[in-house]
Amino acid sequence: MSLLLSVSKHMTLLNTKVTDLFGRLVHKRRFFFLLGSLSTLLLSSTLFLPTLKSTLLHSRIVKSLLMRRKAFTRSLYKIELHCHLTGSIRIETLNEFLREHGLQKYEPPKSLTLKNCFSAFPLVHSAIKTKENLRRLTFETLADLSYANCIYAEIRTTPRALNDINKAGYLETVIECFKEWEEGDSRLIPRLIVSVDRSKSLREAEENVDLAVEGFLSPTNKYIVGVDLGGNPSSGNFKSFIPVLNKARENGLKVTVHCGEVENEEEIDGVLEWGPDRLGHFLTCSDEQFQKAVEMEIPIEVCPTSNMLTLDLPLNVKSLKDNHGTLQKCMESNHSFSVSTDDSGLFSTHAVRELWLVAQAYELDEWRIAGIVWDMVDQVFEGNRKTRAYLARDVRVRIKNMLKVLENGEK
Ligand SMILES: [Zn+2]
Repeated sequence: MSLLLSVSKHMTLLNTKVTDLFGRLVHKRRFFFLLGSLSTLLLSSTLFLPTLKSTLLHSRIVKSLLMRRKAFTRSLYKIELHCHLTGSIRIETLNEFLREHGLQKYEPPKSLTLKNCFSAFPLVHSAIKTKENLRRLTFETLADLSYANCIYAEIRTTPRALNDINKAGYLETVIECFKEWEEGDSRLIPRLIVSVDRSKSLREAEENVDLAVEGFLSPTNKYIVGVDLGGNPSSGNFKSFIPVLNKARENGLKVTVHCGEVENEEEIDGVLEWGPDRLGHFLTCSDEQFQKAVEMEIPIEVCPTSNMLTLDLPLNVKSLKDNHGTLQKCMESNHSFSVSTDDSGLFSTHAVRELWLVAQAYELDEWRIAGIVWDMVDQVFEGNRKTRAYLARDVRVRIKNMLKVLENGEK
Protein backbone atom coordinates (compact mmCIF):
# COMPACT_ATOMS: atom_id res chain seq x y z
CA MET A 1 0.00 0.00 0.00
CA SER A 2 2.80 2.37 1.05
CA LEU A 3 4.67 1.43 -2.15
CA LEU A 4 1.59 2.28 -4.16
CA LEU A 5 1.28 5.62 -2.28
CA SER A 6 4.97 6.41 -2.89
CA VAL A 7 4.68 5.64 -6.67
CA SER A 8 1.53 7.76 -6.89
CA LYS A 9 3.30 10.65 -5.03
CA HIS A 10 6.25 10.50 -7.45
CA MET A 11 3.89 10.42 -10.41
CA THR A 12 2.07 13.50 -9.09
CA LEU A 13 5.41 15.26 -8.54
CA LEU A 14 6.52 14.33 -12.05
CA ASN A 15 3.22 15.54 -13.50
CA THR A 16 3.59 18.87 -11.68
CA LYS A 17 7.14 19.28 -12.99
CA VAL A 18 6.07 18.45 -16.55
CA THR A 19 3.15 20.89 -16.26
CA ASP A 20 5.47 23.60 -14.87
CA LEU A 21 7.98 23.03 -17.65
CA PHE A 22 5.20 23.09 -20.27
CA GLY A 23 3.74 26.22 -18.65
CA ARG A 24 7.13 27.93 -18.67
CA LEU A 25 7.58 26.96 -22.31
CA VAL A 26 4.15 28.34 -23.10
CA HIS A 27 5.04 31.57 -21.22
CA LYS A 28 8.31 31.69 -23.11
CA ARG A 29 6.47 31.22 -26.41
CA ARG A 30 4.09 33.98 -25.38
CA PHE A 31 7.05 36.12 -24.41
CA PHE A 32 8.76 35.47 -27.71
CA PHE A 33 5.48 35.99 -29.51
CA LEU A 34 4.98 39.31 -27.70
CA LEU A 35 8.59 40.24 -28.37
CA GLY A 36 8.12 39.34 -32.05
CA SER A 37 4.90 41.33 -32.33
CA LEU A 38 6.47 44.30 -30.59
CA SER A 39 9.46 44.32 -32.88
CA THR A 40 7.20 43.94 -35.92
CA LEU A 41 5.18 46.87 -34.65
CA LEU A 42 8.30 48.93 -34.03
CA LEU A 43 9.67 47.99 -37.41
CA SER A 44 6.40 48.83 -39.15
CA SER A 45 6.14 52.09 -37.24
CA THR A 46 9.67 53.01 -38.28
CA LEU A 47 8.95 52.10 -41.86
CA PHE A 48 5.41 53.42 -42.11
CA LEU A 49 5.34 56.30 -39.65
CA PRO A 50 6.40 58.82 -42.27
CA THR A 51 3.64 57.47 -44.59
CA LEU A 52 1.11 57.72 -41.77
CA LYS A 53 2.28 61.22 -40.97
CA SER A 54 2.09 62.29 -44.59
CA THR A 55 -1.37 60.72 -44.96
CA LEU A 56 -2.57 62.68 -41.94
CA LEU A 57 -0.91 65.81 -43.23
CA HIS A 58 -2.42 65.24 -46.68
CA SER A 59 -5.93 64.79 -45.26
CA ARG A 60 -5.44 67.93 -43.13
CA ILE A 61 -4.37 69.88 -46.23
CA VAL A 62 -7.33 68.52 -48.25
CA LYS A 63 -9.69 69.42 -45.40
CA SER A 64 -8.38 72.97 -45.11
CA LEU A 65 -8.45 73.33 -48.92
CA LEU A 66 -12.09 72.25 -48.95
CA MET A 67 -12.92 74.64 -46.11
CA ARG A 68 -11.23 77.46 -48.01
CA ARG A 69 -13.17 76.65 -51.19
CA LYS A 70 -16.42 76.43 -49.29
CA ALA A 71 -15.78 79.84 -47.70
CA PHE A 72 -14.91 81.18 -51.15
CA THR A 73 -18.19 79.80 -52.57
CA ARG A 74 -20.07 81.45 -49.75
CA SER A 75 -18.45 84.83 -50.18
CA LEU A 76 -18.82 84.98 -53.96
CA TYR A 77 -21.50 87.27 -55.29
CA LYS A 78 -24.07 84.92 -56.76
CA ILE A 79 -26.87 85.01 -59.30
CA GLU A 80 -30.14 83.09 -58.84
CA LEU A 81 -32.06 82.33 -62.02
CA HIS A 82 -34.50 79.55 -61.11
CA CYS A 83 -36.33 80.22 -57.88
CA HIS A 84 -40.05 79.69 -57.25
CA LEU A 85 -41.48 82.14 -54.74
CA THR A 86 -43.93 79.77 -53.04
CA GLY A 87 -41.43 76.85 -52.94
CA SER A 88 -38.93 79.15 -51.22
CA ILE A 89 -41.12 79.53 -48.14
CA ARG A 90 -39.40 78.92 -44.80
CA ILE A 91 -40.94 75.95 -42.99
CA GLU A 92 -41.46 78.01 -39.77
CA THR A 93 -43.34 80.64 -41.78
CA LEU A 94 -45.41 78.01 -43.53
CA ASN A 95 -46.43 76.57 -40.17
CA GLU A 96 -47.22 80.03 -38.77
CA PHE A 97 -49.50 80.71 -41.74
CA LEU A 98 -51.17 77.30 -41.38
CA ARG A 99 -51.79 77.92 -37.69
CA GLU A 100 -53.11 81.41 -38.45
CA HIS A 101 -55.63 79.90 -40.85
CA GLY A 102 -56.53 77.03 -38.50
CA LEU A 103 -54.89 74.41 -40.72
CA GLN A 104 -52.85 71.36 -39.79
CA LYS A 105 -49.12 71.75 -39.20
CA TYR A 106 -46.65 70.68 -41.92
CA GLU A 107 -44.11 68.09 -40.81
CA PRO A 108 -41.11 68.09 -43.14
CA PRO A 109 -40.41 64.50 -44.29
CA LYS A 110 -37.45 62.71 -42.68
CA SER A 111 -36.06 61.80 -46.08
CA LEU A 112 -36.84 64.00 -49.04
CA THR A 113 -38.36 62.51 -52.16
CA LEU A 114 -39.93 64.31 -55.08
CA LYS A 115 -43.30 62.83 -54.17
CA ASN A 116 -43.36 64.03 -50.57
CA CYS A 117 -41.96 67.44 -51.56
CA PHE A 118 -44.57 67.86 -54.27
CA SER A 119 -47.34 66.89 -51.88
CA ALA A 120 -46.41 70.02 -49.88
CA PHE A 121 -47.18 72.44 -52.75
CA PRO A 122 -50.98 72.43 -52.31
CA LEU A 123 -50.38 72.97 -48.59
CA VAL A 124 -48.20 76.03 -49.29
CA HIS A 125 -50.90 77.42 -51.58
CA SER A 126 -53.55 76.89 -48.91
CA ALA A 127 -51.31 78.67 -46.38
CA ILE A 128 -50.79 81.83 -48.45
CA LYS A 129 -54.23 83.36 -48.31
CA THR A 130 -53.71 87.08 -47.83
CA LYS A 131 -51.70 89.98 -49.19
CA GLU A 132 -49.85 90.13 -45.86
CA ASN A 133 -48.87 86.45 -46.19
CA LEU A 134 -47.55 87.16 -49.68
CA ARG A 135 -45.59 90.20 -48.51
CA ARG A 136 -43.91 88.26 -45.73
CA LEU A 137 -43.10 85.35 -48.06
CA THR A 138 -41.55 87.75 -50.60
CA PHE A 139 -39.45 89.66 -48.05
CA GLU A 140 -38.19 86.48 -46.42
CA THR A 141 -37.24 84.99 -49.81
CA LEU A 142 -35.29 88.16 -50.64
CA ALA A 143 -33.63 88.08 -47.22
CA ASP A 144 -32.58 84.43 -47.67
CA LEU A 145 -31.15 85.11 -51.13
CA SER A 146 -29.33 88.14 -49.82
CA TYR A 147 -27.91 86.12 -46.92
CA ALA A 148 -26.46 83.67 -49.47
CA ASN A 149 -24.73 86.65 -51.16
CA CYS A 150 -26.98 86.66 -54.23
CA ILE A 151 -26.82 90.07 -55.85
CA TYR A 152 -29.27 89.38 -58.66
CA ALA A 153 -32.30 87.06 -58.50
CA GLU A 154 -35.04 86.24 -60.95
CA ILE A 155 -37.91 85.00 -58.80
CA ARG A 156 -40.78 83.29 -60.54
CA THR A 157 -44.36 82.96 -59.43
CA THR A 158 -47.80 82.08 -60.81
CA PRO A 159 -50.18 84.95 -60.05
CA ARG A 160 -53.44 83.95 -58.36
CA ALA A 161 -56.26 85.63 -56.51
CA LEU A 162 -55.95 85.64 -52.70
CA ASN A 163 -58.64 86.51 -50.13
CA ASP A 164 -58.00 90.24 -50.40
CA ILE A 165 -56.32 90.72 -53.80
CA ASN A 166 -56.92 89.57 -57.38
CA LYS A 167 -54.35 88.17 -59.83
CA ALA A 168 -53.15 91.63 -60.85
CA GLY A 169 -52.94 92.61 -57.17
CA TYR A 170 -50.79 89.53 -56.53
CA LEU A 171 -48.16 90.67 -59.03
CA GLU A 172 -48.43 94.28 -57.83
CA THR A 173 -47.79 93.12 -54.25
CA VAL A 174 -44.67 91.18 -55.20
CA ILE A 175 -43.36 94.16 -57.20
CA GLU A 176 -44.19 96.50 -54.32
CA CYS A 177 -42.03 94.31 -52.05
CA PHE A 178 -39.19 94.33 -54.61
CA LYS A 179 -39.33 98.15 -54.71
CA GLU A 180 -39.30 98.44 -50.91
CA TRP A 181 -36.46 95.97 -50.75
CA GLU A 182 -34.38 97.94 -53.25
CA GLU A 183 -34.95 101.12 -51.27
CA GLY A 184 -33.38 99.39 -48.28
CA ASP A 185 -29.70 98.73 -47.77
CA SER A 186 -29.19 95.63 -49.90
CA ARG A 187 -27.15 94.75 -52.94
CA LEU A 188 -29.69 92.22 -54.20
CA ILE A 189 -31.43 93.22 -57.45
CA PRO A 190 -34.77 91.37 -57.56
CA ARG A 191 -36.50 90.61 -60.86
CA LEU A 192 -39.78 88.85 -61.63
CA ILE A 193 -40.64 86.01 -64.01
CA VAL A 194 -44.37 85.43 -64.40
CA SER A 195 -45.14 81.71 -64.44
CA VAL A 196 -47.69 79.84 -66.48
CA ASP A 197 -48.87 76.59 -64.91
CA ARG A 198 -49.16 73.93 -67.62
CA SER A 199 -51.57 71.90 -65.53
CA LYS A 200 -54.07 74.79 -65.60
CA SER A 201 -56.27 75.97 -68.46
CA LEU A 202 -55.11 77.85 -71.52
CA ARG A 203 -57.34 80.71 -70.43
CA GLU A 204 -55.40 81.05 -67.18
CA ALA A 205 -52.17 80.98 -69.17
CA GLU A 206 -53.47 83.82 -71.37
CA GLU A 207 -54.47 85.85 -68.32
CA ASN A 208 -50.99 85.42 -66.78
CA VAL A 209 -49.17 86.33 -69.98
CA ASP A 210 -51.47 89.35 -70.50
CA LEU A 211 -50.61 90.57 -67.01
CA ALA A 212 -46.91 89.97 -67.65
CA VAL A 213 -47.03 91.86 -70.97
CA GLU A 214 -49.03 94.73 -69.48
CA GLY A 215 -46.62 95.07 -66.55
CA PHE A 216 -43.56 94.68 -68.77
CA LEU A 217 -44.70 97.38 -71.20
CA SER A 218 -45.57 99.84 -68.44
CA PRO A 219 -43.15 102.81 -68.66
CA THR A 220 -42.21 102.44 -64.98
CA ASN A 221 -41.50 98.71 -65.16
CA LYS A 222 -38.08 97.47 -64.27
CA TYR A 223 -39.01 94.29 -62.43
CA ILE A 224 -40.87 91.99 -64.84
CA VAL A 225 -38.32 90.43 -67.19
CA GLY A 226 -39.76 87.15 -68.41
CA VAL A 227 -42.32 84.37 -68.56
CA ASP A 228 -41.91 80.75 -67.50
CA LEU A 229 -43.80 77.59 -68.37
CA GLY A 230 -43.81 75.17 -65.46
CA GLY A 231 -46.03 73.12 -63.17
CA ASN A 232 -46.70 69.40 -63.18
CA PRO A 233 -44.64 68.07 -66.14
CA SER A 234 -46.97 65.11 -66.61
CA SER A 235 -50.02 67.22 -67.31
CA GLY A 236 -50.71 69.62 -70.15
CA ASN A 237 -49.03 69.80 -73.50
CA PHE A 238 -46.25 72.22 -74.47
CA LYS A 239 -47.63 72.74 -77.99
CA SER A 240 -50.92 74.13 -76.71
CA PHE A 241 -49.02 76.91 -74.88
CA ILE A 242 -47.00 78.03 -77.92
CA PRO A 243 -49.44 80.87 -78.84
CA VAL A 244 -49.22 82.44 -75.35
CA LEU A 245 -45.45 82.04 -75.24
CA ASN A 246 -45.27 83.64 -78.71
CA LYS A 247 -47.27 86.58 -77.39
CA ALA A 248 -44.83 87.03 -74.50
CA ARG A 249 -41.85 86.89 -76.84
CA GLU A 250 -43.36 89.20 -79.45
CA ASN A 251 -43.78 91.80 -76.72
CA GLY A 252 -40.14 91.61 -75.73
CA LEU A 253 -40.34 89.28 -72.72
CA LYS A 254 -37.77 86.52 -72.37
CA VAL A 255 -39.08 82.97 -71.99
CA THR A 256 -37.81 80.02 -69.99
CA VAL A 257 -39.43 76.58 -70.19
CA HIS A 258 -39.31 73.74 -67.67
CA CYS A 259 -38.33 70.83 -69.88
CA GLY A 260 -37.23 67.19 -69.62
CA GLU A 261 -38.38 66.58 -66.05
CA VAL A 262 -40.05 63.38 -67.27
CA GLU A 263 -39.29 61.22 -70.32
CA ASN A 264 -41.00 62.85 -73.28
CA GLU A 265 -38.78 62.91 -76.34
CA GLU A 266 -41.42 64.42 -78.60
CA GLU A 267 -42.10 67.32 -76.25
CA ILE A 268 -38.39 68.07 -75.79
CA ASP A 269 -38.06 68.20 -79.60
CA GLY A 270 -41.03 70.59 -79.69
CA VAL A 271 -39.52 72.86 -77.01
CA LEU A 272 -36.17 72.96 -78.83
CA GLU A 273 -37.87 73.69 -82.12
CA TRP A 274 -39.64 76.65 -80.53
CA GLY A 275 -36.36 77.75 -78.93
CA PRO A 276 -36.80 79.30 -75.45
CA ASP A 277 -34.19 81.70 -74.04
CA ARG A 278 -33.35 79.28 -71.24
CA LEU A 279 -34.21 75.66 -70.45
CA GLY A 280 -35.27 74.62 -66.95
CA HIS A 281 -33.61 71.37 -65.82
CA PHE A 282 -33.49 69.59 -69.24
CA LEU A 283 -32.82 66.31 -67.46
CA THR A 284 -34.08 63.57 -69.75
CA CYS A 285 -32.65 64.94 -73.00
CA SER A 286 -30.85 62.66 -75.45
CA ASP A 287 -27.30 63.39 -76.67
CA GLU A 288 -28.74 64.78 -79.92
CA GLN A 289 -31.16 67.02 -78.05
CA PHE A 290 -28.39 68.29 -75.81
CA GLN A 291 -26.28 68.96 -78.89
CA LYS A 292 -29.14 70.94 -80.39
CA ALA A 293 -29.36 73.11 -77.23
CA VAL A 294 -25.59 73.69 -77.58
CA GLU A 295 -25.94 74.69 -81.24
CA MET A 296 -28.83 77.01 -80.40
CA GLU A 297 -26.80 78.40 -77.46
CA ILE A 298 -29.66 77.93 -74.98
CA PRO A 299 -28.35 78.01 -71.39
CA ILE A 300 -29.62 75.33 -68.99
CA GLU A 301 -30.91 76.05 -65.49
CA VAL A 302 -29.44 73.30 -63.28
CA CYS A 303 -30.91 72.91 -59.79
CA PRO A 304 -28.79 70.13 -58.18
CA THR A 305 -30.92 69.15 -55.16
CA SER A 306 -34.20 69.43 -57.04
CA ASN A 307 -32.77 67.50 -60.00
CA MET A 308 -31.53 64.66 -57.78
CA LEU A 309 -35.01 64.43 -56.27
CA THR A 310 -36.61 64.38 -59.72
CA LEU A 311 -34.26 61.62 -60.84
CA ASP A 312 -34.89 59.76 -57.57
CA LEU A 313 -31.20 59.75 -56.64
CA PRO A 314 -29.56 59.74 -53.20
CA LEU A 315 -28.90 63.34 -52.17
CA ASN A 316 -25.11 63.39 -52.20
CA VAL A 317 -22.17 64.68 -54.19
CA LYS A 318 -21.24 61.29 -55.68
CA SER A 319 -24.72 60.67 -56.98
CA LEU A 320 -24.78 64.17 -58.50
CA LYS A 321 -21.47 63.51 -60.27
CA ASP A 322 -22.37 59.99 -61.44
CA ASN A 323 -25.97 60.47 -62.48
CA HIS A 324 -26.69 64.05 -63.52
CA GLY A 325 -26.08 63.50 -67.23
CA THR A 326 -27.04 67.05 -68.25
CA LEU A 327 -24.68 68.70 -65.78
CA GLN A 328 -21.93 66.32 -66.86
CA LYS A 329 -22.51 67.19 -70.53
CA CYS A 330 -22.45 70.91 -69.67
CA MET A 331 -19.15 70.48 -67.82
CA GLU A 332 -17.60 68.45 -70.64
CA SER A 333 -18.78 70.69 -73.47
CA ASN A 334 -18.43 74.02 -71.64
CA HIS A 335 -22.06 74.73 -72.45
CA SER A 336 -23.62 77.59 -70.47
CA PHE A 337 -25.56 76.61 -67.38
CA SER A 338 -26.69 78.24 -64.17
CA VAL A 339 -26.88 76.76 -60.68
CA SER A 340 -30.09 77.55 -58.79
CA THR A 341 -32.25 76.46 -55.87
CA ASP A 342 -35.70 75.84 -57.46
CA ASP A 343 -37.67 75.51 -54.18
CA SER A 344 -35.24 76.32 -51.38
CA GLY A 345 -37.79 76.11 -48.53
CA LEU A 346 -39.33 72.79 -49.42
CA PHE A 347 -36.05 71.25 -50.55
CA SER A 348 -34.28 72.63 -47.49
CA THR A 349 -31.43 74.24 -49.43
CA HIS A 350 -29.90 77.61 -50.38
CA ALA A 351 -27.79 79.18 -53.13
CA VAL A 352 -24.42 78.51 -51.44
CA ARG A 353 -25.22 74.85 -50.92
CA GLU A 354 -26.29 74.29 -54.53
CA LEU A 355 -23.13 75.85 -55.98
CA TRP A 356 -20.98 74.01 -53.44
CA LEU A 357 -22.58 70.68 -54.46
CA VAL A 358 -21.43 71.25 -58.06
CA ALA A 359 -17.99 72.43 -56.91
CA GLN A 360 -17.50 69.29 -54.80
CA ALA A 361 -18.85 66.92 -57.44
CA TYR A 362 -16.37 68.18 -60.03
CA GLU A 363 -13.58 69.05 -57.57
CA LEU A 364 -13.56 72.62 -58.87
CA ASP A 365 -10.96 75.05 -57.63
CA GLU A 366 -11.80 78.68 -56.81
CA TRP A 367 -11.13 79.87 -60.37
CA ARG A 368 -13.61 77.41 -61.86
CA ILE A 369 -16.25 78.06 -59.18
CA ALA A 370 -15.98 81.77 -59.96
CA GLY A 371 -16.17 80.90 -63.68
CA ILE A 372 -19.64 79.34 -63.23
CA VAL A 373 -20.97 82.53 -61.60
CA TRP A 374 -19.25 84.75 -64.16
CA ASP A 375 -20.88 82.80 -67.01
CA MET A 376 -24.30 83.34 -65.40
CA VAL A 377 -24.00 87.11 -65.85
CA ASP A 378 -24.64 86.58 -69.59
CA GLN A 379 -27.72 84.45 -68.93
CA VAL A 380 -29.83 86.98 -67.01
CA PHE A 381 -33.11 88.22 -68.50
CA GLU A 382 -32.46 91.79 -67.35
CA GLY A 383 -32.96 94.02 -70.38
CA ASN A 384 -31.50 97.26 -69.07
CA ARG A 385 -27.95 97.61 -70.37
CA LYS A 386 -26.82 99.78 -67.49
CA THR A 387 -28.07 97.34 -64.86
CA ARG A 388 -26.39 94.47 -66.71
CA ALA A 389 -23.15 96.42 -66.85
CA TYR A 390 -23.29 97.23 -63.11
CA LEU A 391 -24.04 93.61 -62.33
CA ALA A 392 -21.12 92.41 -64.47
CA ARG A 393 -18.81 94.96 -62.84
CA ASP A 394 -19.83 93.99 -59.29
CA VAL A 395 -19.44 90.26 -59.92
CA ARG A 396 -16.11 90.76 -61.71
CA VAL A 397 -14.62 93.06 -59.07
CA ARG A 398 -15.65 90.70 -56.27
CA ILE A 399 -14.13 87.69 -58.06
CA LYS A 400 -10.95 89.62 -58.86
CA ASN A 401 -10.49 90.78 -55.26
CA MET A 402 -11.17 87.37 -53.80
CA LEU A 403 -8.76 85.66 -56.18
CA LYS A 404 -6.11 88.29 -55.41
CA VAL A 405 -6.42 87.58 -51.67
CA LEU A 406 -6.14 83.88 -52.46
CA GLU A 407 -3.01 84.34 -54.63
CA ASN A 408 -1.35 86.51 -51.97
CA GLY A 409 -2.13 83.89 -49.36
CA GLU A 410 -0.50 81.19 -51.45
CA LYS A 411 2.75 83.13 -51.94
ZN1 LIG B 1 -38.76 74.94 -61.27
